[in-house]
Amino acid sequence: MVESLVYWLQLVFHHLPLGVIVIDRGGQVRLFNNRLSILSGYKEERVLGKPFLELINNQDSEYNKLLQTLATGKEYQNLMPESVIMLNSSTDFRANTYAIKDKSGATVGAMALLIPAGRQQELENAIIKAEKLAILAEMIHELRNPLTAISGFVQLLQQKIRTNSELEYLDIISDELKRLNRLISDFLLQAKPGYCSRTQCSINKLLTDVAALVECEASLRNLKINLEIPEDPPPIKADSGQLRQVFLNIIRNSFDALPDEGQLFLQCSGDEQLGIVRIVIRDTGKGMDGQIMANMFKPFFTTKKNGTGLGMFISKKIIDNHGGSIDIQSEPAGGTTVTVTLPVA
Ligand code: ADP
Ligand code: MG
Repeated sequence: MVESLVYWLQLVFHHLPLGVIVIDRGGQVRLFNNRLSILSGYKEERVLGKPFLELINNQDSEYNKLLQTLATGKEYQNLMPESVIMLNSSTDFRANTYAIKDKSGATVGAMALLIPAGRQQELENAIIKAEKLAILAEMIHELRNPLTAISGFVQLLQQKIRTNSELEYLDIISDELKRLNRLISDFLLQAKPGYCSRTQCSINKLLTDVAALVECEASLRNLKINLEIPEDPPPIKADSGQLRQVFLNIIRNSFDALPDEGQLFLQCSGDEQLGIVRIVIRDTGKGMDGQIMANMFKPFFTTKKNGTGLGMFISKKIIDNHGGSIDIQSEPAGGTTVTVTLPVA
C-alpha cells in the first residue's frame, strides 16, 4: 500500500525536533504535535479543538505572546517558553511565534515553535559566519583598486612593447587579471549579506530583459533564442537583480555549451494550484556527464579554460534564498535542461 501524502505529512509533523502549536482566529487549538505533547504533558486529543486559554492560566492571557501574535500580527522570537505554554521539560527551550496569514494578508491564526536552545546556538553561529563573510567581502573589494592600477599599466606596456615574446607574456598577465576581476565580481555578488531586497515583480519582464541582454551575443554566433512566456504569469516576490544574474548565468552556460547556430529555449509557466512559477532553460548543446553534473554546483568547479566555477554555485544560493529550487537534466551530446522553480508572491 502506498501511504498518502497526508499520512507522511502527519508523521513528519509529529516527529519534528520542534514543539508546534497552531491556533485559529477564534483562539482554538488546531494543531499540536507529539513533540509538544511530550514537552508540555498535554495529550493531543485533550487539546485539539479546545480554546487555547484552557491550556494556559487565564489570568496570564494578556501576557501570552501567542495570543498577542494572533491579536496584533506581531511576531516574537527567542522567548522563554512560559510566555507561550508551560513546559515540563528541564531541557532548555526557546519559543518563536508567527502570524498565519491567508492569501489576502489577513491573520487567520497563529503558530508557536518551541525550539531547543542548541538550535538557537546554530543560528547564532550562522550569523557570526555571515558577518565574517561580510568582512572578507570588504577585503576582497579592496583588491579591486590595485588590480585596476595594474591592468592600466599592463595596457600601457602592451602599446609600447613590440617584440612578440614579450607581448605574449603581457597577454597572459592581462588574461589572468581579467580572470581575477571576474572572480572578484562573482564572489562579491554572492557574499554580500542583506543584499537581497525583494519586491513583487513580473517574471515576464525579467525574462524578456534577460533575453534582450544576451541577444547581441546570440546574433553574433547565429544562436536562436526561442522565448515562450505566458501572457499573464502570477507575480513573484524577488530581488530582480539577483534573479537576472541567475538567468544570465544559466543562459551563458548554455551559450558556452552550444555550437554556432544552436538553439536555446526559454519557457515560463505558472502553476496556480502548487503556487509556483517554473522557468525552463533548455539548450541543444554538448550536455554533461554524471561527474560534471555531480560537481557543477560546487564553488570553483569549472570545465572551461576561462571559467570561474562560481556561476551555478551562486545561482543555487540565490534561488535557495528565494525559497525555490534548481533542477538539472542533461546528457552528453543530448543538451541540458535547467528548471528553476519559484514560489508565487
Ligand atoms: P563556469 O561557467 O564558470 O564554468 P558554472 O558554475 O557556471 O561555472 O558551471 C560549472 C560547470 O557546469 C561548467 O564549467 C560546465 O562544465 C557545467 N555546465 C553548466 N551548465 C551547462 C550547460 N548548459 N551545458 C553543459 N555544461 C554545463
Ligand atoms: Mg557559468
